[in-house]
Amino acid sequence: MNFEKIIITTHSGQELTLLREREGKWVCPACGSPELAIAPWTDEGPSFEMCGCGLEFGFDDAKGGSKYALESIELNWITWRQKLIRKAKFDKLYEMRLRKTLLNLGVEI
Ligand SMILES: [Zn+2]
Repeated sequence: MNFEKIIITTHSGQELTLLREREGKWVCPACGSPELAIAPWTDEGPSFEMCGCGLEFGFDDAKGGSKYALESIELNWITWRQKLIRKAKFDKLYEMRLRKTLLNLGVEI
């Protein structure tokens, strides 16, 4: 699939690379699913949208949101992704779907 790459800098100075489909849907940076209605983060802050993978931007990936969240937004995405990959080991159908969406992020499992 063909995605547009958008780099934003958050108000806390973190540089994030986001992907957007030509039709306008944004790609979840954790699971790779192109299903987000708006950008998960902008320079003004998170969208607070929840992806189908369960990640809520501004909560699960933001320090001060979830108690598990680390300072680095990107690291929180990676941690979330690892959780999804572990979960997929017990669900073949989900694993197939996840494998496909992760390719959008250049991640192979
Ligand atoms: Zn997701």
